[in-house]
Amino acid sequence: MNAGTGVVGLIGHPVGHSKSPEMMNRAFRACGLPFVYLAFDVSPSELGTAVRGMRALGFRGWNVTIPHKVAVLEHLDEVEETAREIGAVNTVVAQEGRLIGYNTDGEGYLRSLVDETGLELSEQRVLILGAGGAARAVAHALATTGVESITIANRTREKAERLAASLRKADARAVSLSELERVVGETTLLVQTTSVGMYPETEAIPIDPSFLHERMIVSDLIYRPRKTLLLREAEARGARIHGGLGMLLHQAALAFEHWMGKPAPVDVMREALEEAMKSAGGG
Ligand code: NAP
Repeated sequence: MNAGTGVVGLIGHPVGHSKSPEMMNRAFRACGLPFVYLAFDVSPSELGTAVRGMRALGFRGWNVTIPHKVAVLEHLDEVEETAREIGAVNTVVAQEGRLIGYNTDGEGYLRSLVDETGLELSEQRVLILGAGGAARAVAHALATTGVESITIANRTREKAERLAASLRKADARAVSLSELERVVGETTLLVQTTSVGMYPETEAIPIDPSFLHERMIVSDLIYRPRKTLLLREAEARGARIHGGLGMLLHQAALAFEHWMGKPAPVDVMREALEEAMKSAGGG
């Protein structure tokens, strides 16, 4: 590092669990880019001050995680269309003094899904479990791919209804949890976006496993553990499975591309992520 080193980073609260510093710093080294990536724990009351500080210090950009993904919008000069539709930003780019917000979660999810499963998206009848921030990103991304239909089920039904109504590019609807068994029967891609089953509650499962079947792909956004109870149950019933680590990798790779204007060294980043996950434990 020297006086010319550029800075990018992450703001969230907390940020201690993040694997982004390992992925990004390895990527900068591999590409010979004079940048450093740092994680900053910013409390909600300090968000505005932090953004002004990063702008003043000339950060190239930064990632945004919980709980700032929505609140950060009001501090930006411009928000790109996808992020506006989702209503949340996970990547900020500082360009000629202007702060522009993007959301790479949905596109990162699609890259991972297609990369790992080779799935033909246009043929899919999708069921999304959950209607929180991750569900919004994934649902909006899937809605642009020409999938046959998107059905959303969530503990708080009104949130599922609001999300379905916002998906103007797809045939989308919300259902109640009591309708799940019927809907799962015709589902070809089940996307699990709730936090149910996440470490340390690894024996929790968001759906009756007897509903799962071999004609579907079951995709779980959770990456800790790598193979959730839902994925284990799905696999035992002959379904193909897809875990959440690839989404984490590809949303980071897309953020790198926004900041650096060049393709990310995805293999190097994957290796750094795998190593960081191994040292974190938790399956
Ligand atoms: P969020 O906005 O807080 O949404 C949480 C969702 O989980 C809501 O739909 C919520 O339902 C549901 N939920 C929580 N506890 C539940 C329970 N006990 N029973 C039923 N439903 C429950 O969180 P998020 O940001 O969307 O994150 C959700 C998950 O996705 C997390 O596990 C996170 O780690 C994962 N994620 C992964 C990646 C990746 O890169 N792989 C990226 C983002 C998120 P209600 O609406 O009823 O509260």
